[in-house]
Amino acid sequence: MTTTSPTDFDAIVIGAGFSGMYMLKSLRDKLGLNVKVFEAGDTVGGTWYWNRYPGARCDSDAYIYVFTFDKQMLQEWEWSERYPTQPEILRYLEYVAKRHDLKRDIQFGTRVTGAEFDEKADRWIVHTDKGETVTAKYLIPAVGTLSTTNLPDFKGLERFKGKWYHTSRFPKEGVDFTAKRVAVVGTGATAVQAIPEISQQAKQLTVFQRTANYCVPARNGKVSPEVTRARKADYDNIIQRIRESFFGQEHYMIPKSALEVSPEERERQFEQMWDAGGFAFWLGNYQDMFFSAEANEVCADFIRRKIRATVLDPKTADKLMPKGHYYGTKRQPLDTNYYETFNKPNVQLIDAATDGAIEEITENGIRAGGKEYPVDIIVFATGFDAMTGPFKALNLKGRGGRTLDQAWQEGPRSYLGISVVGFPNLFTITGPQSPSVLSNMPVSIEQHVEWVTGLIDHMEKSGKKTVEPTVEAQEQWVGHVNEIVSATLMTSANSWYMSANIPGKPKAFLPYLGPEGVGGYRRKCDEIAAKGYEGFKLSA
Ligand code: NAP
Repeated sequence: MTTTSPTDFDAIVIGAGFSGMYMLKSLRDKLGLNVKVFEAGDTVGGTWYWNRYPGARCDSDAYIYVFTFDKQMLQEWEWSERYPTQPEILRYLEYVAKRHDLKRDIQFGTRVTGAEFDEKADRWIVHTDKGETVTAKYLIPAVGTLSTTNLPDFKGLERFKGKWYHTSRFPKEGVDFTAKRVAVVGTGATAVQAIPEISQQAKQLTVFQRTANYCVPARNGKVSPEVTRARKADYDNIIQRIRESFFGQEHYMIPKSALEVSPEERERQFEQMWDAGGFAFWLGNYQDMFFSAEANEVCADFIRRKIRATVLDPKTADKLMPKGHYYGTKRQPLDTNYYETFNKPNVQLIDAATDGAIEEITENGIRAGGKEYPVDIIVFATGFDAMTGPFKALNLKGRGGRTLDQAWQEGPRSYLGISVVGFPNLFTITGPQSPSVLSNMPVSIEQHVEWVTGLIDHMEKSGKKTVEPTVEAQEQWVGHVNEIVSATLMTSANSWYMSANIPGKPKAFLPYLGPEGVGGYRRKCDEIAAKGYEGFKLSA
């Protein structure tokens, strides 16, 4: 152990969401290291701490949106619904923190403001907004993928006389929309959850849509005690299945083309997935949906017909029809009364293409297409600087003082999405170019944490001081990530997956897609470890 004073640690972990909590548990309790966690929020939760907008709930089935490292927790914890709400997930994470006594090593209310690698000492020097400077051999940003807020630079926001909020920074005490005229800007997965909820309170809700989305029903509800019992009894198999699966979910693409089956069979299959709800339609569809424009179109057409059948006003239905991007190439929003909400008399939809884009925020509201829409409250559901944003925000300096911003000037470059050339002993949990957001997050988080723990264990046991990828290994990985995705329709969308939601962000596909999903990626990482961490330089 290298610890010499309370300011020197074996490892510093940044963030106390799912990843940071398990990273702490793993390094401290499995390896016996001296670990410190810094967390900006005032308790555990990460994403689930910050995103407390109305309607916020999990989009994955809860029985697999859990830690699996502790079998007793899997048996003990009871979810109240298929997709639990944000407060319930926070309660779960508090329960985990208590059971594993995590909080004693987490410093809350503290943001890491910068860190540089000291090449003489082979240690990271880490600074916080509380004026502290601490050091560690290993630095592990567990900062999440969707944690750097994107608030577009709307002209005039500063003169708006009402109140405004971003969904990812909602006040803890909530917002009372009663008798208010409310605007929601954005129609991504967050807005699709928030809009139906806000519409129930607001006097008038105006939704500003830039791109219509393909939404599918969530079908939330109680899970029967029999199903819950059966799952608890089968957890060992469930865990194995999700770890080996493509998406970390119990959804599997149909090994057929959407075009090879009869229209009747296809329709039956579509209806079945539609009724099942959740990600079934997205991740359990015909296998060529992500590859063939023609196969994709039959899926898209089915959703358009559902929208048409739900939305009563044909003009509003037209505006809600997704156009210009393939189905599934943007993150699938799950809908609970989303389309129905546009049938309510107090809800109007302002579509950028039909009614005009947002021009400015005025003192009293939002001007779009030359018309002012007066509102009392604006809710920005405008998303995040995804995946690279949270890491860049840490102001990391690697060898030679080179910043991550410089290293990622033309998009992320990493080896396995875990490590970056020139940034020794730095491990990016669910970082760019790993499966991450294309999977059920806890599955990918556990895989990264366990793999990094194995690497650190190896370093400690073999007396190594630094580990970092070779340039060749990194270049090969970057090439592989881009080659795989270029065969799909994903690259054609203006999605945050493609970095397209932030003006000026270098265009790059951010996660890693296949070819065998999270299962194949896990095998690849394990093979690399078995070959003595192939592609890494380990120095004594
Ligand atoms: P998002 O998907 O990036 O959506 C942002 C919305 O704001 C889009 O409709 C976007 O339009 C619009 N927008 C952005 N900039 C704009 C501008 N300058 N003018 C007008 N409109 C603008 O963000 P999100 O809905 O917060 O979701 C982000 C991710 O969080 C999701 O994809 C998902 O991975 C995750 N999430 C998870 C859950 C869950 O599991 N429970 C729930 C919600 C979100 P364009 O489409 O035209 O860019």
